[in-house]
Amino acid sequence: MIHCEEILAIVNEYLDGELDKETSAKLDRHLAGCAACRTLIENLEHTIALYAQGHAVDVPPDACQHLTDLLRDRWATKFPTDRQAE
Ligand SMILES: [Zn+2]
Repeated sequence: MIHCEEILAIVNEYLDGELDKETSAKLDRHLAGCAACRTLIENLEHTIALYAQGHAVDVPPDACQHLTDLLRDRWATKFPTDRQAE
């Protein structure tokens, strides 16, 4: 079973279409059950699409913060540690 941290490690290859079929399938399965990673990748794909169209875009700080919070919550649930107090 693939974890969110592994998604982040391979997301660039995924978006570039450089993943092998097996890893890509694992990632798709993870995305099917993980809203946080799905949101992350949808946002990245959206940003990349805008770049591809020649628009220079900045990720709005709000969206960035939202994603960070989303992932942190998700990870805090999945990978409890004793240093979530910040
Ligand atoms: Zn995930």
